[in-house]
Amino acid sequence: MLTFTNRTALVTGAGRGIGKAIAETLARHGVTVICVSKSADSCGAVAAAITASGGKAKSIAVDVADGAAVAKAAETLLAEFPTIDILVNNAGITKDGLLFRMSEADWNDVITTNLTSCFHWTKHLARPMTRARWGRIVNITSVSGIMGNAGQANYSAAKAGMIGLTKTLAREFAGRSVTVNAVAPGFIKTDMTTEFVNNPEVSAKILEAVPLKRFGEAADIANMTAFLCAEEAGYITGQVFAVDGGMAM
Ligand code: NAP
Repeated sequence: MLTFTNRTALVTGAGRGIGKAIAETLARHGVTVICVSKSADSCGAVAAAITASGGKAKSIAVDVADGAAVAKAAETLLAEFPTIDILVNNAGITKDGLLFRMSEADWNDVITTNLTSCFHWTKHLARPMTRARWGRIVNITSVSGIMGNAGQANYSAAKAGMIGLTKTLAREFAGRSVTVNAVAPGFIKTDMTTEFVNNPEVSAKILEAVPLKRFGEAADIANMTAFLCAEEAGYITGQVFAVDGGMAM
């Protein structure tokens, strides 16, 4: 069991997939979890299930790509929870295409949702963490941000940007005992990857590049993230942990 003492976490993209698993895992460790997603239904269902199983959770629908909406939500939440000790920037989207066919709108949507959202949430939630001299920020990046991936110029750039942001903020906040790390999933079975995972030819091709020869589960990412948020990980900052079956080694 990991150690968490009266901690509150905000997890973006907690309505489905990896974010849902992270929210559930933190809640199982006694953390109060604020579940954020775009649709009120998805984060609401996750928070309701956590509460029904004895955990503490609330939900709020916020479009993380909208800086003003993030600012408003952060203000409301900080009035209710004076310390949000843990921030997991997990919400993300893909809009894939080769560069010559990629529209500026698809470039901007992916950069804004995956990367600029981290800037906004961190700006609002990290200040109380630095005052409290304790905090954990985990950014969910991707192996695409480490290795690049043909057809994902926007996504790879956003995820690589999250790594630069992670390392810079780790340095900025270290003096206040706020750690900032990144987790880089490989191919994980979620709605985002259903079309690859369910296509035998495509999945066989992908698995050629995965030494462990299988897709990951959302729980694999949640376990690493929960560890990085726990008391036990207090001496780890500025790092990127690939959880990818060995793809990016
Ligand atoms: P997913 O199943 O598609 O779920 C994405 C979640 O993000 C949903 O809850 C969605 O909200 C939320 N979201 C998307 N856009 C949003 C917005 N503008 N505002 C607020 N919430 C928004 O994705 P996933 O596979 O769990 O991926 C989670 C993270 O891991 C992403 O950052 C992704 O890039 C990264 N990742 C995933 C994989 C993989 O193989 N799955 C690999 C590497 C990295 P709704 O529920 O309301 O739609």
